[in-house]
Amino acid sequence: MVTIDGEFENASLGLVTRYSDTWFQIGLRPDTAYWTHFRVRGCRGKEITFTLTYTERMHTNRWGTVESTNPERPDDRCRNPYLSYDGHTWQHFDHARRYVTVPHTVCFRHRFEEDEAFVCYTIPYTYGDLNRFIDGIRDHPWITIETLAQTTDGHDLPMISVAKNREATELIGLICREDSDEPTSNFALEGLIGRLMEGGGEIEALLDRCQFRIVPMVAIDAVVMGSPYGGPWDVMARRWLDDPTLPEIAAIKDQVRGWMGSHRVRLLGKLHGGQTFDNPPVWDFRVFDHALRKLIPKDLPAELDPIWNPFLRDAVPWVRELTIFETHLQQEYDFWNFFSTHTNGKDPDNLKAQGRRFADLLARFVLGA
Ligand SMILES: [Zn+2]
Repeated sequence: MVTIDGEFENASLGLVTRYSDTWFQIGLRPDTAYWTHFRVRGCRGKEITFTLTYTERMHTNRWGTVESTNPERPDDRCRNPYLSYDGHTWQHFDHARRYVTVPHTVCFRHRFEEDEAFVCYTIPYTYGDLNRFIDGIRDHPWITIETLAQTTDGHDLPMISVAKNREATELIGLICREDSDEPTSNFALEGLIGRLMEGGGEIEALLDRCQFRIVPMVAIDAVVMGSPYGGPWDVMARRWLDDPTLPEIAAIKDQVRGWMGSHRVRLLGKLHGGQTFDNPPVWDFRVFDHALRKLIPKDLPAELDPIWNPFLRDAVPWVRELTIFETHLQQEYDFWNFFSTHTNGKDPDNLKAQGRRFADLLARFVLGA
């Protein structure tokens, strides 16, 4: 018999309705409007159909469904979800389409080759994935791993330092994954850190002058719970001015205070991300962001390379109205050299390549080339 469950890290599964042993309606948990992550067992050799109804028309974009305007040539293909037999290698379904007779409903079907499979709205990046990545880099001589705090739910909040020259007086700080449902950012960050660890040329010149402090996953609790954004805190990225604030944010604020006192802080940034891969232009923040006003931090010497412009966003006046990282930096330190970006790409390798590129751009920024 086929069974479906959500009893693992990052799972998100609501009520499952079994119509037959090969057709299931996947219910969404009430804390999400479109996201799901579940496990199927007993599925080897079976072609199983899943239907899922997202709660609003706006999530049509997130599911990548196409509403053809030409009835002669219907195109109701659907980009998501992804499936994996091992939790690491992800693939598309054989068949994923908009369901014709029920609004806001997608239908995905696959003949499974293994007896256990994971199905996720997108390619996930979990807290377990982060810890595996950290274990893989912790012995590198330039890397230091620290635990800054325990999250509200008691998980370790790690910080990764990249310091080739521990006497270096300049510093770049990055925070990543403030929103649980933006896993692309963590793949980009892996590429960035990997590029820094390789060294050579401009990267080593960068690291001679500048240390990195990176908080790779802010919304750990939400990632573990499989809840979008910040879990019980809704949009965690808006809680920087709370007093008292969440232990994760308080710990990062303490770090920032230390950096400001001990180093010349060149740039502070946050890596956000896309909700999924393979974004069509309509839901690609690279396009979306182009429509917004983009300002370069005041002491950036030159425009960055267009291959991957990380969308440096200077402090536009309205940022002051938001209770976000940038606002904290402005109000507490009158610090304006920050940026925010949504990383998007077609697959994890593409995101890692973007992260590597970003490291090169940061070298150019710091070295003033
Ligand atoms: Zn975000």
